[in-house]
Amino acid sequence: MSSQNTTVAFIGLGNMGAPMAKNLLSSGLQVRAYDLMPELLQSLAREGAYAAHSAHDACEGASIVVSMLPAGKHVASLFMGDEGLCGRLAKGSLIIDSSTIDAETARALHESCENHGLFCLDSPVSGGVVAAQAGTLAFMCGGSSEAFDKAQPILNAMGKNIFHAGPAGAGQVAKMCNNMLLAIHMIGTSEALTLGEKNGVNASTLSEIMRASSGDNWSLEKYNPFPGVMPTAPASNNYEPGFMVDLMAKDLGLAIDNAKSNDAGTPLGKLAQSLFIEKQAAGDGKRDFSSIIELIANKPH
Ligand code: NAD
Repeated sequence: MSSQNTTVAFIGLGNMGAPMAKNLLSSGLQVRAYDLMPELLQSLAREGAYAAHSAHDACEGASIVVSMLPAGKHVASLFMGDEGLCGRLAKGSLIIDSSTIDAETARALHESCENHGLFCLDSPVSGGVVAAQAGTLAFMCGGSSEAFDKAQPILNAMGKNIFHAGPAGAGQVAKMCNNMLLAIHMIGTSEALTLGEKNGVNASTLSEIMRASSGDNWSLEKYNPFPGVMPTAPASNNYEPGFMVDLMAKDLGLAIDNAKSNDAGTPLGKLAQSLFIEKQAAGDGKRDFSSIIELIANKPH
């Protein structure tokens, strides 16, 4: 696929969508962008995108649509139903939905695409705003091999590790499983560091020991929740996000709802969800999710 000849419609230019769309522009693709917020649209237009008047306008002449929206209901109303984009796109077009949404809505979108002769990929991302800006996002994709192959040039322009997780919905399943595990090991790491400190063992020393021992994990290696241990981590910057408590609570909600409908046991996932909801209720929704250590530190035994 020659980049110059490919027009991509990009819907949803928020914290993640804007830098992702910018990377598509940098790779030489034509981008027709749309967001409900005019200031976000104008900002991307200054980077060379066409500022569309509506999602339908964004799709004029586009053979690929990328969406980066808050939740399943936004994705469903954009693509499905009488007014949805699925009924408007030319046959053979490809929809890449990178929003983090419930697997059920993702599967319904695949079905709608199939009914309209479109290719579809659910492809949520991992890596956050920093990776979106750097073009190093990880994409976890669900859909046919044909759709996955067609999406490669687009995904490569925005990311680094691109996985085909399986059939329709598998990308969302991979994302929700990963983030549930992330929440659990962040809480576990927070508990271990807090217990060590209460016993007079320095958090940096304990982190170094656990990293060389069987307690090692991503939270310890890349994202230490204890202030001052890792200068670049949000914990050393007053828990500026990073990845917000609100987003972790949302992702845990997706995992726990899915587990209920699949009769899968998630005792630690449920506990993690209740702790992140408690953190939200304390007014900390916009802080980095590693600030969960504050809740742990203040919890009586
Ligand atoms: P955001 O709220 O910053 O951006 C969403 C954008 O979608 C907003 O600008 C909003 O105006 C726009 N929008 C909503 N409905 C629309 C519609 N019908 N038409 C056009 N635009 C519409 O959210 P974000 O942080 O960019 O996250 C987007 C998705 O990525 C979410 O599903 C989130 O869970 C996921 N995600 C976020 C991060 C992160 O660190 N922010 C990391 C991984 C995944």
